[in-house]
Amino acid sequence: MVEKETQPAQHQSGRNSGVIHSGYNLKPGSLKAKYCVEGSRRLRAYCRERGIPVDEGGILIVARTEAERATLAELHRRAQGNGVQSRIVSGDDIAAIEAHARGVEGLHAPEGASFDAPAYVRALLADAEALGVQVRYGTAVRGFREGRVVEVDTSGGTLAAPALLNCAGLHADRIAGAVAADLRIIPFRGYYAELTADSRRLVRSHVYAVPDLTFPFLGVHLSRRVDGRVIVGPGAMLAFGREAYRFAQMNLRDLSGTLSWPGFYRLFREPRFRSLVVSEVRKSLSLGAVWREARFLIPALERADLVRSFAGNRATVVSRDGHMVDDIVVRETERTVHVLNAVSPGLTCSLPFGEHLAGECHRKLGGEALLGRAG
Ligand SMILES: Cc1cc2nc3c(=O)[nH]c(=O)nc-3n(C[C@H](O)[C@H](O)[C@H](O)COP(=O)(O)OP(=O)(O)OC[C@H]3O[C@@H](n4cnc5c(N)ncnc54)[C@H](O)[C@@H]3O)c2cc1C
Repeated sequence: MVEKETQPAQHQSGRNSGVIHSGYNLKPGSLKAKYCVEGSRRLRAYCRERGIPVDEGGILIVARTEAERATLAELHRRAQGNGVQSRIVSGDDIAAIEAHARGVEGLHAPEGASFDAPAYVRALLADAEALGVQVRYGTAVRGFREGRVVEVDTSGGTLAAPALLNCAGLHADRIAGAVAADLRIIPFRGYYAELTADSRRLVRSHVYAVPDLTFPFLGVHLSRRVDGRVIVGPGAMLAFGREAYRFAQMNLRDLSGTLSWPGFYRLFREPRFRSLVVSEVRKSLSLGAVWREARFLIPALERADLVRSFAGNRATVVSRDGHMVDDIVVRETERTVHVLNAVSPGLTCSLPFGEHLAGECHRKLGGEALLGRAG
């Protein structure tokens, strides 16, 4: 296993909401729905087995306007289609589930949970290492050539492998090269605020706004983490670098990659996308704008209850023809497998999805050892 950072979980897997999603919001029949529903149950069991902190408090999605009730009904239909527990609750029931939340109607998904995502990554690594996997940290993959074996060009020299599995998250399209020439990762920053210690009592578990189903983002939510902190977010701000975690941070190569992508302009022509960008710029610059949105869900929230917190960038795939790809994409060649668009709820999907990928690699490996020095 080759990892460019010196430690695990430095990007998406360590910078996220830490929610085990039940799959109430995913389109039935999609890969995400398939892996999330199974993954949610298995992940909760795995965490219990391995002593990883989990808090199974459920998720409440709150409709604040009459128009949002239609989306709640669609989410309820999706939950039923996926065989996931959910129930529509009245405005009065909302307060019984979350004392400080207010809305005209809600959807309660009791299987939603919080977990310690970095501890989960460490446990998976320990499992892999116990099976003999070696991790080469500080080694960046630059590309590969496929022939009788796969020659992987890295910052630490060339490695030869009978098969290659590319799970490079925010950089997966670059490693995939020609295999994913019609797709580009455009990073969207999910920036979070969090509640001050005194105001954490305002949220028991998870309170979500009704999402705009045009985009693969879940909208603002207030989530109690396993460490007791309550995070507010994540936003969905166009990031000026794949690993640019602050507004003013920029990576020229990444930014020109976004601006030179025809799909980006096609997407930008859509008025809903343009208004998303405008509202996200406002929220990333002003905590007051985040507060005004969160206050719709929890009216007792004061501006002073919010402070800035961390950010994580999503590896969102935009196609050449301007669509934000909603589902997981896996591309294969004879000896390589490439995972693209493993965005939320990728952590929840990870056990069955990882098993599927391992099966694909196993077929390509044909029993050979994974990595050896070229030549
Ligand atoms: C803001 C946010 C909130 C989210 N919330 C949730 C949630 O609540 N629940 C949920 O289930 N999912 C959530 N997700 C989604 C989830 O975090 C991701 O789907 C998942 O972590 C993706 O894992 P990954 O291994 O594909 O990518 P990553 O975790 O990004 O890992 C990719 C790894 O590849 C390495 N790498 C990259 N390029 C190279 C290279 N060239 N050479 C060597 N190594 C390289 C990176 O250093 C990194 O370690 C969220 C994501 C974000 C961004």
